[in-house]
Amino acid sequence: MIFDLHSHSTCSDGLLGPAELVERAVQRGVDVLALTDHDEIKGVAAAREAAEHWGIRLVNGVEISVLWDDVTLHIVGLNIDTGYLPLADGLAAIRSGREMRAQRMAESLAAVGIHGALEGARRYAKNPELVSRSHFARYLVEAGHARDTNAVFRHFLTPGKPGYVPHQWAALADALQWIRGSGGVAVLAHPGRYDLREAKCERLLGEFVDRGGAAVEVVTGSHAPAEFVTWARHARNFGLLASAGSDFHGPGEGYRDIGNVPALPSGCDPVWARF
Ligand code: AMP
Ligand code: MN
Ligand code: MN
Ligand code: MN
Repeated sequence: MIFDLHSHSTCSDGLLGPAELVERAVQRGVDVLALTDHDEIKGVAAAREAAEHWGIRLVNGVEISVLWDDVTLHIVGLNIDTGYLPLADGLAAIRSGREMRAQRMAESLAAVGIHGALEGARRYAKNPELVSRSHFARYLVEAGHARDTNAVFRHFLTPGKPGYVPHQWAALADALQWIRGSGGVAVLAHPGRYDLREAKCERLLGEFVDRGGAAVEVVTGSHAPAEFVTWARHARNFGLLASAGSDFHGPGEGYRDIGNVPALPSGCDPVWARF
């Protein structure tokens, strides 16, 4: 069975619509797919319809942006109830903060001579409530400032670089409450990306467990294979389940295509035992 429990559509910063995404997952042999758009659940209905049509299992999902102790974290919620109002309202509040952030990002880019970035990013954002760094990155490639989006993030849009604007995302406690309150399970997404020192990492995992977090994303497009083992060990030490997903955004972007999800290391308890 192929489980891919992390993916994006045009409802956030993916390149395929929810139905197209499901179709690609089917073609690539995925049995169980979660659509996990950033701070947005409106693609789930179309994805579900497509999944029913093709006969694969869709898991309702979301990837919530959180600010924890000056670190931006992503918390994936799986098997959520999209009709749970505190979740829908909380996500709407995060999305509304993105507009001012996008304006400030464009101002920061203009200060280094890159003009028209807000309009450029908006052209790539199919969901006007969700202008993200990915849309800015695609515009910067189009305008000739970098070869591809990975190169953009090396020179722009990250802390200390032009176009980066710190942002007040959701609180960890709130994100976990929305997910748990809706009947879902909370997964700490791509932990290897946060670049935490050991003590801070342990504090994060401890707090995550105390507040009802259930799983760590062990296998993800953001981890090198050696990191699968490291995070499998952390998961075990903290009594957390293990999740796996490609974090697919679109053909030609990122490191793993949809369904390209290696097996969990031995000794992991898979999160899908919970749904
Ligand atoms: P935002 O939610 O607007 O901060 O945008 C975050 C998104 O930007 C992530 O979900 C990725 O899709 C993309 N991203 C962030 N950092 C990188 C990176 N270093 N390389 C490639 N994509 C990145
Ligand atoms: Mn993304
Ligand atoms: Mn993420
Ligand atoms: Mn993601």
